[in-house]
Amino acid sequence: DRIISANLMMEEQAVELSLRPRYLGEYIGQTQVKENLKIYIEAAKMRSEALDHVLLYGPPGLGKTTLANIIANELGVNLRTTSGPAIERPGDLAALLTNLQEGDVLFIDEIHRLHRTVEEVMYPAMEDFALDIMIGKGPSARSVRLDLPPFTLIGATTRAGLLSAPLRDRFGVVSRLEFYTIDELSFIVSRNAELLGIEILGDAAEEVALRARGTPRIANRLLKRVRDFAQVRGDGIITPDIAAEALKLLQVDPRGLDNIDHKMLHSMIASFRGGPVGLDTIAATIGEESQTIEDVYEPYLLQIGFLQRTPRGRIVTPAAYHHLGLPLPPEQP
Ligand code: ADP
Repeated sequence: DRIISANLMMEEQAVELSLRPRYLGEYIGQTQVKENLKIYIEAAKMRSEALDHVLLYGPPGLGKTTLANIIANELGVNLRTTSGPAIERPGDLAALLTNLQEGDVLFIDEIHRLHRTVEEVMYPAMEDFALDIMIGKGPSARSVRLDLPPFTLIGATTRAGLLSAPLRDRFGVVSRLEFYTIDELSFIVSRNAELLGIEILGDAAEEVALRARGTPRIANRLLKRVRDFAQVRGDGIITPDIAAEALKLLQVDPRGLDNIDHKMLHSMIASFRGGPVGLDTIAATIGEESQTIEDVYEPYLLQIGFLQRTPRGRIVTPAAYHHLGLPLPPEQP
């Protein structure tokens, strides 16, 4: 059983890897971010210098890891990947940094979760390409400075506001990734279907795109599930009908909302007359972490205008009532 599940996971990872665009030209959307990066990368290559440190932020699945890989590819350097919580001690960071070659990219996912002691070692590393190491203990302890090869740190986080100011300030390039349009997602779905050897009709690709919450990772997942459905129930070709039927079974509604979105909106309406209601109250009411709601659920609901943020809390908008088929609450006197 375990071997089977391990195999499946490896297969899944392989699929993700095979779908990952490798160069800027293959990376759909995010036009502004791409344009800027193209210039910075070119300039760094012309000067034979390491690219400035880059911070990428935005909801999960929008392509931060993919972009980090692309930047390293375009620069023609090695990429080392790790994550904030995985670097437990300053020594772990020192080991990573001293193993880099000149110009290499170090990618740290979830960089907002770096341990404080590690973060402090990061400052001089980013600024001066130097490590300050303490040798000895007590009164005889002294600090030794070790030079590092110039490198590029690429940090990824769901929200830039989660980073401490001193860390954030040390990134020369700060880019926010946006949700993708339906057209962009349709294109990604069609292209990935082709890569996976699946036949999908254009309208069916759009059907998948509409429910992908502006997020390529979700589009890819939906595509794989729809493919399974087409193979079992149809002749393998994904038609709009097959797509619609399969997507109905996956419990995502026509705007891409799942049962947690529904639970959240319904409980805000039922218990708080649609708000304003504070994030922590919503979280407690539906039994989710506030941070998950803020990072994963809320950004898309804000984007499509189903939620509004006010200083007094979140409000369910008339568009959301309409989508849920519910009457608007009577005006308060
Ligand atoms: P993040 O790091 O932001 O959570 P990833 O970079 O892991 O997101 O992206 C998830 C998947 O979405 C990738 O495997 C890739 O196949 C796809 N993807 C992301 N961005 C794009 C894009 N711009 N064009 C095409 N596919 C993309």
